Amino acid sequence: MVNHQTIGHSTTHLSAEDLAALRRHLHEQRLFRQEQLRQLAGPVTSRAEDQPHRQAAAQTEVRVKLSASARMVLADVEAALERLDDGSYGTCHLCRRPIDRERLMIVPQCRYCARCQQVREAAP
Ligand SMILES: [Zn+2]
Repeated sequence: MVNHQTIGHSTTHLSAEDLAALRRHLHEQRLFRQEQLRQLAGPVTSRAEDQPHRQAAAQTEVRVKLSASARMVLADVEAALERLDDGSYGTCHLCRRPIDRERLMIVPQCRYCARCQQVREAAP
């Protein structure tokens, strides 16, 4: 008799198809964020002198914020791809329990299970 829990990686609650789908999803997400960062780093399309200074400054601020969040997601996505490669993918970083498959399908780069995520977000 074979105990599936003890075979190979800790990602036994995910099938090979699940992992392939998640990997595809993560690759798409990475491309999307890389493209977003490229665009944000590019020249501003509207000419700065055409608009009031305050508006231009606000636009720059939005770009800085968007870049920061895109970079954060990109880092998470790349970390998730590394976890897929080393077999630690799908395990909560805090409680070490498997993360729900449904949750991973929605947010493939998440590091924590729903419970730990809630606890973290509630923390000051
Ligand atoms: Zn957890």
